Amino acid sequence: MNNPILEKKLLIDGKQIDASSGKVRQLMNPANGNLLAEVAEAGVEDMNLAVEVAHRAFYEGPWRQMNSRERTSILLKISQLIRENADELARLESNNVGKPIRESEDEVQLAANCFEYYAGVINKIGGQTIPVAAQGVSMTFREPIGVCGLIVPWNFPIAITSWKISPALAMANTIIVKPASQTPLTALRIGEIALEAGLPEGVLNIVPGPGSAAGEALVKHPKVRKISFTGSTEIGTQVMKLAADDIKRVTLELGGKSANIVFADADRENALSGAVWSVLGNAGQDCCARSRLLIEASIYDEFLSELSSLFKAVKLGDPLSTETEMGPLVTAEHRKLVYGYVETGIKEGAEIIAGGQIPDDDKFSAGNFLQPTLFSQVNNNMIIAQEEIFGPVLCAIPFKDEEEAVSIANRSNYGLSGSVWTKDLQRALRVVKAVETGVISVNTGHSVHMEAPFGGVKQSGVGRELGLAALDHYSDLKSVFFSLPDI
Ligand code: NAP
Repeated sequence: MNNPILEKKLLIDGKQIDASSGKVRQLMNPANGNLLAEVAEAGVEDMNLAVEVAHRAFYEGPWRQMNSRERTSILLKISQLIRENADELARLESNNVGKPIRESEDEVQLAANCFEYYAGVINKIGGQTIPVAAQGVSMTFREPIGVCGLIVPWNFPIAITSWKISPALAMANTIIVKPASQTPLTALRIGEIALEAGLPEGVLNIVPGPGSAAGEALVKHPKVRKISFTGSTEIGTQVMKLAADDIKRVTLELGGKSANIVFADADRENALSGAVWSVLGNAGQDCCARSRLLIEASIYDEFLSELSSLFKAVKLGDPLSTETEMGPLVTAEHRKLVYGYVETGIKEGAEIIAGGQIPDDDKFSAGNFLQPTLFSQVNNNMIIAQEEIFGPVLCAIPFKDEEEAVSIANRSNYGLSGSVWTKDLQRALRVVKAVETGVISVNTGHSVHMEAPFGGVKQSGVGRELGLAALDHYSDLKSVFFSLPDI
């Protein structure tokens, strides 16, 4: 029997409301094509209402006036309620995005951890006193910015929503979240949970709607002081231009084409596993995906032969099964786009040594599945090596020495993530310093830790999220000088 269809509304001023146009968007389960939910679709009018509500909540509501212990306890309660509802949230995310349930479970825990972490900073991070060259006292106050517009993509909805909301709340701002149109379900639940935890009405508004209407209205609204955008470099560029009109603060977390650099001395088993899961996690729909695999020439053939066996062994299937290692892509349109890159790679002369097909097994026919795909004979100038594919496709490129590895890694418009695999830690340190990227890891494919800053360089973005660094992007420093002749 099919699950009942969810019906969700906009969450504005603590109330669930229909879109003023009455429009709803139907969401399909990416694994089987079944109708999953009908969600109210906000337009410009609804977004303008949400901004007015958040503006009033900032200037007239109790949130900013609460003392640090009161605000801390609300964030801790949100964290606790996320943990209590973890199973429901993880299933919702897997049904909506198509990601394997174990990945969703991890992301729900990350969400809870974020609220807990930023709850802990509220009574610890403040201003400073500064020894200026004058008689008196110079000090800074860390102040909230005001209304923050948080725009979220579809690939890690609950994780990215939470890592934007929690520091913004910790700094006492008020918020509008614009989730991706395909994946608003867990963000809407987080909004409900926050109300249950005692967050005053109007402080956190969740407003799904098309980016071109609701998203743009949020970015353009003069009462919004800050935009934190995660998404494609193409839309990020537009957001930055629009935000410039009234000098909004902007954080952009954008695309990537990260390099995974494997030296001949690397621990082979770990490097192979890292090469698989740093591109096939979330079916490759990951801004941090290490989608360019740079392998030292002396081990290139051997490494790829072992890697292609591992790619072929990855278990595709129902996202809700704990056996499943890789789920479908998020929508049929997105799979078409990714498959287009597979065709481009073939035309460019790269050779497929694993996958490359839409699986023909009946059990996959209604979902948006694509086989994990491994290309050899890739040249870094090819389109498949330069553009973000955002799917389960890996491009393998040989290098002859350290200098060439760094040069290939840096020949990209992006600079988000990356990994280096070697037992020589001096070389690892030289390489991590030389690669132009915001985040990089040594001997692991994981580099996102919520306590550490995260973000990109070059066209991968501006600003940092996570860690204490995020607080600088959700607060302003007011500099105050008391002229005191005797001091
Ligand atoms: P996207 O198309 O750029 O959309 C991202 C968000 O922006 C969605 O909520 C979208 O709404 C909204 N949007 C679209 N047009 C807009 C406009 N004109 N004004 C304001 N908002 C607008 O990206 P995506 O396809 O959802 O996500 C994939 C991309 O995100 C990839 O490039 C990936 O690398 C990047 N990403 C980066 C990070 C990072 O931390 N660096 C993390 C995750 C993903 P609709 O859904 O209605 O279009």
